[in-house]
Amino acid sequence: TSKSMGKNKITVFTPRILQQKERKLEMTELLRESMERECAGFSVRYQPQVDSATKALYGAEALARWNCTSFGQVSPLEFIPILEQSGMIIQVGKWIFRRAVEQCREWRKLKPDFHMSINLSYLQLLEEDFIIFVEETLEVLGVPYENITLELTETYLIEQDGTVHDMLQSLQEKGIQVAMDDFGVGYSSLFELKNTPADIVKIDRGFVKGLTSDVFTATFIRSITELCHNVGKQVCMEGVETSEEYDIVKDIGLDLIQGFYFGQPIVPEMFEKRFF
Ligand code: C2E
Ligand code: MG
Ligand code: MG
Ligand code: MG
Repeated sequence: TSKSMGKNKITVFTPRILQQKERKLEMTELLRESMERECAGFSVRYQPQVDSATKALYGAEALARWNCTSFGQVSPLEFIPILEQSGMIIQVGKWIFRRAVEQCREWRKLKPDFHMSINLSYLQLLEEDFIIFVEETLEVLGVPYENITLELTETYLIEQDGTVHDMLQSLQEKGIQVAMDDFGVGYSSLFELKNTPADIVKIDRGFVKGLTSDVFTATFIRSITELCHNVGKQVCMEGVETSEEYDIVKDIGLDLIQGFYFGQPIVPEMFEKRFF
């Protein structure tokens, strides 16, 4: 413990840092094994997105899961950065994208305007063949661009050279939607909101807690919604968990809602039973 080892933080924390490094190294190896076995161990869960006013189903966000042979279920907050740092995100990201588009194809049979939202890493956009990959995947699976939304965090959208911007724009011209994920935290500012090519702005779920308790949060969301609507962007509120939160968000008049109040990320079979 820190007491028995004195106040020197270096000696206290070194074993833990080593342990974390070991965990990361081992996980990198296991992720590589998974990837090489045609992404065995990876799966995709789906969380509903609903129309704010009517609660009607709009679509789903595809969220990656990894079940590891030694660590069990690992959070994407842990394994996505490892995939990014090791470059594996390119191959695994393609697998996730294809899987989500296949699922979209199935659900379009039940609801032709079903929208599938897929998270992307910046690194995927830097790949030269990314556009061709998207075009081919949608063409082969017969899913229109209009049914697909690409979710990117604002930093990815802003810290980009012209190439990525042009790439997103050419996909948008074909009908694909781009969503700015986690708006309001990190490096976001109104300047960045102005310059983002996004069609949909997803307000970070960190703001939901304040909705029922402080005036600033509700006013902030109301103002951002008005601003976005005035420049033709849609707004999605993430992380709505209770009926009180839903009532306030509905009253604000933003477009889409996603959160545990409507459903957690679940396997496709369960999603189908509950939401179609
Ligand atoms: P995100 O894209 O912002 O996804 C929303 C996260 O918020 C999901 O966590 C979801 O389960 C959680 N969430 C949704 N509604 C609620 C709610 O009402 N309450 C609470 N407490 N949480 C809620 P998840 O699935 O653990 O994913 C975490 C992050 O990992 C994602 O955040 C995304 O940044 C990343 N991620 C997940 N799948 C992928 C993927 O396929 N590719 C990439 N590049 N990143 C991914
Ligand atoms: Mg997302
Ligand atoms: Mg988000
Ligand atoms: Mg997030």
